[in-house]
Amino acid sequence: MQENQIKTHSEQETMQLAEKLAVLLKPGDVITLEGDLGAGKTTLTKGIARGLGVTRTVNSPTFTIIKEYVGELPLYHMDVYRLEDSDEDIGFSEYFNGEGISIVEWAQFIEDFLPPEHLNINITYLDEHSRLLAFTPKGTHFELVVDQLIG
Ligand code: ADP
Ligand code: MG
Repeated sequence: MQENQIKTHSEQETMQLAEKLAVLLKPGDVITLEGDLGAGKTTLTKGIARGLGVTRTVNSPTFTIIKEYVGELPLYHMDVYRLEDSDEDIGFSEYFNGEGISIVEWAQFIEDFLPPEHLNINITYLDEHSRLLAFTPKGTHFELVVDQLIG
């Protein structure tokens, strides 16, 4: 298997990996998630939320685009699917430059607004219970994070 890729075999395993990732994050970090509907983007976000100590239930923000949660660090959960083919800036930089952790589902749709340093995770559906997670860190901080997570 290629470097920076990891296979999970259940929703629980993806959640646990995400919890481990959460602990390595710092204020202002941006995680971008790509992968088809049902790949596991929201599941991964739920795991990060749990790792950040968010107690409220995390649901897909498809219709609201952004939801904020209180944890040890604030969590800004975005699903920008509805912004495909639009250049609309809904104030991304305030989130990306904020003190919280930003997680963006369908991040490829807002590529122009993403900060240069971020961690991209691409999730591929393998079978009903298995997913391939490919990590692409941009910047030295995220390279270290990925090393510590799966290196
Ligand atoms: P997305 O946000 O990418 O549309 P969701 O996280 O909402 O995807 O849904 C993923 C679905 O796949 C959930 O029903 C989850 O239980 C299921 N699933 C099965 N195996 C896995 C796995 N290994 N990792 C993540 N989710 C999985
Ligand atoms: Mg989702």
